[in-house]
Amino acid sequence: LANRLQDTLSRWRGKGKVTEADVNEMMREVRLALLEADVNFKVVREFVAKVKERAIGQEVMKSLSPGQQVIKVVNEELTALMGGTQSKIEHAKQAPTVIMMVGLQGAGKTTTTGKLAKYLQKQNRRPLMVAGDIYRPAAIKQLQVLGEQLNVPVFTLGDQVSPIEIAEQAIAHAKENRLDYVLIDTAGRLHIDETLMGELKGIRDTTQPHEILLVVDAMTGQDAVNVAESFNEQLELSGVVLTKLDGDTRGGAALSVKAVTGKPIKFAGMGEKMDALEPFHPDRMASRILGMGDVLSLIEKAQAAVDEDKAKEMERKFRKAEFTFEDFLDQMAQVKKMGPLEDLLGMIPGMGKMKGMQDLKVDEKQIDRVEAIVKSMTVDEKQNPEMLKNTSRKRRIAKGSGVTLQEVNRFIKQFEDMRKMMKQFTRMADQSKKKKGKG
Ligand code: GDP
Ligand code: MG
Repeated sequence: LANRLQDTLSRWRGKGKVTEADVNEMMREVRLALLEADVNFKVVREFVAKVKERAIGQEVMKSLSPGQQVIKVVNEELTALMGGTQSKIEHAKQAPTVIMMVGLQGAGKTTTTGKLAKYLQKQNRRPLMVAGDIYRPAAIKQLQVLGEQLNVPVFTLGDQVSPIEIAEQAIAHAKENRLDYVLIDTAGRLHIDETLMGELKGIRDTTQPHEILLVVDAMTGQDAVNVAESFNEQLELSGVVLTKLDGDTRGGAALSVKAVTGKPIKFAGMGEKMDALEPFHPDRMASRILGMGDVLSLIEKAQAAVDEDKAKEMERKFRKAEFTFEDFLDQMAQVKKMGPLEDLLGMIPGMGKMKGMQDLKVDEKQIDRVEAIVKSMTVDEKQNPEMLKNTSRKRRIAKGSGVTLQEVNRFIKQFEDMRKMMKQFTRMADQSKKKKGKG
């Protein structure tokens, strides 16, 4: 979806004047892109109608950059489609607040129960996790392990007592022990069936939960939407948690869930770890769908600043790991033209999530020092990073640039790391190009 929309939209971005026919053509492509991304067809139809109406309206046609305006409208409507930010968890007037986790097998209920417990714990709440899945072997154990890891109590009566009774007793236990949230993990099945729904309704009727959260796997696309629709019909959900958004999901499910069920996506699961739960942000998701991170504006910025031939040459060098200190200086100069480095890094998709990237805080002063170091190198040294294994050379450079030998060492190490990373990046880019070609 992202690629397709990006291609379409980038063609329009710079356009000076937009006619009604242009908008129609553009909307045709947006429609196709959304359908391809497995977005529900009714949702697509309404969405396109809305955008069209606004795009053909005054606000866009009369603006100075209509192409840009249309994109803005698409972005805003995508955000609206997914609802506002509604990650608030209901809080009962009289403790405990009861939250029931439902969903199909493997969607991430148990994991999300743990994540939610941790989330509440951070807000100084005292959650209790309830082992209500008595069918799947080791399901109880899985929750107990999480409980131990998080230091959150787990309530279980083994697998011989009915989940309804377990849930009921769990609430009594929470009251006695002054625990203020009861998170009920329930069983799932591979498909929705009456037995499952019957049991869930039983738990709901006896515990009167304040929240019924449906956990759905974002990777399942349109299926996730169908699942949400059935669960909502049967149980009247209060919200949805979309898991596995850390994977290569394009967001089709996120787009349709709210529109089809009317229920907000409250949280997004971004990984298997217990802290990988985030409040769901429709605006960020819209940007991700429109351009994975903010590739469009990154490209725009880069195009404005970087001489294209130079960029190509640079890419060739990255690939061959021929990248030298001289290129590094060049690159620095280009990057400086583009604005603060941190902003740029943030715009590269996946960069924010990459390990270690959070620590890569960019200090502009440091850049100046680095420049001084490189400028103190001889021409030969600049072009042959290997020469700098020699300590006396490094000492000379340190003196010349007014920094310590340690700093020179650190920079050379960073430079080598960067070369490695660049190689990885180009490899990743190649792979995704291949994938795109196949699809
Ligand atoms: P349940 O059957 O619904 O209780 O599902 P589980 O909680 O046991 O999760 C099934 C699998 O999905 C496990 O391997 C989890 O680690 C994984 N999982 C759950 N949520 C996420 C997520 O947000 N991202 C990723 N990558 N994996 C997840
Ligand atoms: Mg489970």
